[in-house]
Amino acid sequence: ASLLEIQGLRVRVEDKEILHGVDLTVGKDETHVLMGPNGTGKSTLGYAITGNPAYEITGGQILFEGEDITALPVNERAHKGIFLSFQNPLEVPGVTLSAFIRSALEQRTGSRLRLWDFKKKLKETMALLHMDESYAERDLNVGFSGGEKKKAEILQMLMLEPKLAILDETDSGLDVDAVRIVSEGVRLFRERTHGSLLIITHSTRILEALHVDAAHVMEEGVIVKNGGADLVDEINENGFQVLQSESEESG
Ligand code: ADP
Ligand code: MG
Ligand code: MG
Repeated sequence: ASLLEIQGLRVRVEDKEILHGVDLTVGKDETHVLMGPNGTGKSTLGYAITGNPAYEITGGQILFEGEDITALPVNERAHKGIFLSFQNPLEVPGVTLSAFIRSALEQRTGSRLRLWDFKKKLKETMALLHMDESYAERDLNVGFSGGEKKKAEILQMLMLEPKLAILDETDSGLDVDAVRIVSEGVRLFRERTHGSLLIITHSTRILEALHVDAAHVMEEGVIVKNGGADLVDEINENGFQVLQSESEESG
């Protein structure tokens, strides 16, 4: 079975249908890119896959490793190995980054972790991302710069080792150095864990260190085109306009 198989997915947010029948398949150990104009439903798809209750699934299904997870709550999907890195990470006063990751890791693995083992792994992983150790004991994202928030998301991904990580515009608004570190973290994730990636992005900078297996274009709540890495280049050169005229010609 594929890792993720989405069939005819319809999603409603606050009584408005946003996704009108999305089909998407992601294999194991693959990197996929999801592109598309703003407001077409890319983030909505990410939330629907992770099980955010604000995104009501009204049709179709989501299979993960062959199992129908369409109705599973968010924590059970996390336990199965689905991870979403938010476009705008939340600030959580009173919960340290370290405590947050430890709790997420216990949910992911379903078992208690020895504090010493956890701290050791956290320290090693933070070093990979050039994060100062002191961040571990700061409140989650509170007062973090944009780049630090994104690094904290990548740190969570490397610690949790999900089978599927969805990165929603993790590279937007970052300076060149932060993009490099995020991009290196993503590359390490693929190399070390062989977890699959679904990267939602407008830029190719984060993709430079990665081998892209497939690209998908979403427009107005449906996937309108699937292709390989060359589709990313094509869209960066010509924009989404080209696809529209192509589909008009063929339709
Ligand atoms: P994209 O990520 O492609 O820019 P989104 O999935 O964020 O698109 O948004 C798709 C549409 O759904 C937009 O019209 C947006 O306003 C709407 N939408 C998304 N999330 C919500 C929400 N929580 N409440 C109301 N409308 C939403
Ligand atoms: Mg957007
Ligand atoms: Mg979005």
